[in-house]
Amino acid sequence: MTAISPAVMDIVSRPPIVFVQGKGAWLTDSQGHTYLDFIQGWAVNTLGHSPRPILDALASQAERLINCSPAFYNDRMIRLSEVLAHHSGLHQVFLANSGAEANEGAIKLARKWGAKHRGGTFEIVTMDHGFHGRTLATMSASGKPQWEALFEPKVSGFVKVPLNDIEAVAAAMTDRTAAVMLEAIQGEAGVFGATDGYLRDLRALTRDRGVLLILDEIQTGIGRTGRMFGFQHAGVTPDIMTLAKGLGGGVPLAALVAQQDACCFDYGDQGGTFCGNPLMAAVGCAVLEQVSEPGFLDRVVRAGRVLTDRLLTLSAKHGCGEVRGRGLLLALDLGRPVAAKVAASALERGLLVNAPRPDSLRFMPALNVTGAEIDRMAEILDSALATGI
Ligand SMILES: *Cc1c(COP(=O)(O)O)cnc(C)c1O
Repeated sequence: MTAISPAVMDIVSRPPIVFVQGKGAWLTDSQGHTYLDFIQGWAVNTLGHSPRPILDALASQAERLINCSPAFYNDRMIRLSEVLAHHSGLHQVFLANSGAEANEGAIKLARKWGAKHRGGTFEIVTMDHGFHGRTLATMSASGKPQWEALFEPKVSGFVKVPLNDIEAVAAAMTDRTAAVMLEAIQGEAGVFGATDGYLRDLRALTRDRGVLLILDEIQTGIGRTGRMFGFQHAGVTPDIMTLAKGLGGGVPLAALVAQQDACCFDYGDQGGTFCGNPLMAAVGCAVLEQVSEPGFLDRVVRAGRVLTDRLLTLSAKHGCGEVRGRGLLLALDLGRPVAAKVAASALERGLLVNAPRPDSLRFMPALNVTGAEIDRMAEILDSALATGI
C-alpha cells in the first residue's frame, strides 16, 4: 500500500484509512466511515474504545499527579500492585509500559535468580511459535520461524520445544536451566492453547527440577479467557507472570508479577523512567475494578459462547474448519490460506478482524461486547466469506 504520510515510519502495510475516533465497539475514520472493531487495539481495549471508567481515571488522576519518578512511591502504584498481587496469589509487582518490557524483566529476574540461587543457571526453555515481544531478548525467546534469521546475533540462552509436549521440556532441561517460559494461549501464532493438563504437568516438572515457571499472560490475562488469568483454568500458579495488553485497557501499561521466592533483584537491576507512573497505574486500577465486578467474567464466558456459536455456524455454512481458543480470544480456521483476503474484504464492509496466520482469523473484541455486536459481526463476516473464499 502507498503510505498516507511519508513521515510515519513504514513498518507494516497499513490500509489507506486514518482513524479519528472510537466509542465502544466502533471506530470512525477521517471520511466519517464507521467500523465494527473485533481487533480492539490487539486485545488491548478491555472495555472498548474510550469507556467512561478510563476517561474518569485519566481526567481525575491527571489533575492530581502524572509522574513523580519511579524512585518514589505513589499511591496508584501501590494500589495497582496490591490489587494484582491479591488477584493472582503472587506477591510482588513491577509496573512497566509494554509487554516486551515486562517479559525482558521476567527474563532478567529468572537469570538473576539462577545466578543467585541455582549456581549460575541461565537457560530458559521456551516454545516453538511462541511470541514474547520485539526487543532483542524477547525476539530471541520467541519461536517465530520468520524471525530466526533476523537481527543476528540473537540473545543466547533460549532452548525451544514444541507446545504441549511435556517430554520435550523434560529432555530440553539441563543443569543450566533456570526457567520454562510460555503463553497460556499462543495468540500471535494463531490461538493455540497450552492444555490445562500440560500446564499442570509443567508446574509439577518445574517444581521437581527446581526451576521457575514463567507464564506470559500478556494477551490472556485480565479476563480475556473468562477467568482473571489464563492459568486459573488449570488450577496452577506460576512463579512469574507478565501482563500488558488488557491491563491498561488501551493505554501503555504492563506488569511483571512474581512470587516471593523468585523476587531477587538487587537495587539498580531493574527500573525505567515511566515505570509505575500514577497516570497509567490509575487506569489499570479502573480496568481491574470493572473486570472484578461480580458477574463481569460470567458475561465474558457467555459472550465467548455466543461468538463461538456464530463462528461454528459460519464455518459449517462456508466449509471452514475448527474454532479455537477460550473466552473472547478465539480463532476460526478457514481451512485454506485466504485469511488475509477475507480480512481485507471484511474491512471493506466495515469490520476489523485480524489474520494471524494465512488460514485463520482471530477475534478479540472488547470484553463487554454485546450480543447484538456479535450478531452484526457475524453478518458482515458471512458476506466477506461469501466473496473472499
Ligand atoms: C503482545 C504480546 C507481547 C508483546 O507486548 P508489547 O506490548 O507489544 O511489547 C508479548 N507476549 C504476548 C503473549 C503478547 O500477546
